[in-house]
Amino acid sequence: MISPKVAVVFGTRPEAIKLAPVYEELSKRKEKFDVEVIVTAQHREMLDQMLNTFGMYPDVDLDIMQPEQTLADVTTRALTQLQATFAQRAPDIVLVQGDTCTCFAAALAAYYEKIPVGHVEAGLRTSDRYSPFPEEMYRRLTDQLSDIYFAATSRARHNLLGDGCDIGSIFVTGNPVVDALYTVMERSPGLEKTELHWVNAIEGRICLLTAHRRESLGVPLTRVFLAIKELVQTFHDLNVIFPVHKNPKVKKAAEEILGSTERVVLCDPVDYLTFVPLMARSDIIITDSGGVQEEAPALGVPVVVVRDTTERLEGVDAGVAKLAGTQTDEIVAQVSSVLKNPSEYQRMTAVGCPYGDGRAATRICDVLEFYFGLRDTRPGEFDWQPVEPDEEEPAEAGD
Ligand code: UDP
Repeated sequence: MISPKVAVVFGTRPEAIKLAPVYEELSKRKEKFDVEVIVTAQHREMLDQMLNTFGMYPDVDLDIMQPEQTLADVTTRALTQLQATFAQRAPDIVLVQGDTCTCFAAALAAYYEKIPVGHVEAGLRTSDRYSPFPEEMYRRLTDQLSDIYFAATSRARHNLLGDGCDIGSIFVTGNPVVDALYTVMERSPGLEKTELHWVNAIEGRICLLTAHRRESLGVPLTRVFLAIKELVQTFHDLNVIFPVHKNPKVKKAAEEILGSTERVVLCDPVDYLTFVPLMARSDIIITDSGGVQEEAPALGVPVVVVRDTTERLEGVDAGVAKLAGTQTDEIVAQVSSVLKNPSEYQRMTAVGCPYGDGRAATRICDVLEFYFGLRDTRPGEFDWQPVEPDEEEPAEAGD
């Protein structure tokens, strides 16, 4: 029997991180699947960093990125070239991840070629079609185009059912970002062996910052950066490390507002083998990233989300994350409360990770076997329960 051909398609850093464990697991099952990697390279540099980290070598690299590309440019180039690629290579299924332009364009191109689509991280929703922009629309459209839904959590399944998706095609698998994180924790040589080795020598508390969302560019991002300035002025033991996204607008604002602020270090984005131990070494994370919201609880690090909406409410409901918005005062208040209050801090670190248990890629590949008739029974699902908080008195936290 000929093995089904699975095309794993992506174009950006977060997609590479989240699809790497799925690719690795599919490759282990090579007697069952013929797997190939197709990249658009929608973001060239940050994607390449991840391809190297995970040892993924694309079978097709469309290299579509151009300077000052608009959303329409990226969509058009990705769609046209992906449809031609699918027509030529004829995969039996196309796997996409998340909510990028590449994800949506690949799902649409596969639909044009009448090739089934499997959507990893299906069913994420905010109630606002413009936030995050344009990701909220890309994931809704991708779900409409998909045939199999790999929902990370039962909330995501619920969202998909609300959109009329077929219940039998939805599988709660957990998010493979947790698999990637655990693998890298095992493989990482540790922070001391990376370019950020000096972080280990910092005596005070460490706050890791990432912020780059398109809908935050301009005034909201300025307010976030002003909050960071105020926090380091208030907490004299607080050191902020900010790997600044390659987007020139983010870089400019970061340098203008935070460039010469004491105890705030701006650096280039770092590879995942560095970023994971950096997250683990941090006392608190402030972020607008989707992936980081999922990773922080898996590492037991409190996370404050600087966005007005989040599609990842599981963390907020479980008490491992706070949604602070983008107003300076509110961000300062929420972060200060975590830093000043030891029992609140301890509660946020102890609950566990509602997004996955490190076995999502196994479940996704089991589902693919089921879909192609290579196994008889429907695979088991990810089912998370919070860890009960310890009653012990927390230690004093300094400020
Ligand atoms: N990340 C990284 N290096 C960095 C910053 C982030 O490897 O300097 C990783 C992070 O761990 C997460 C992913 O990149 O898995 C998040 O990417 P991004 O914030 O660009 O996208 P989002 O998660 O918001 O879709």
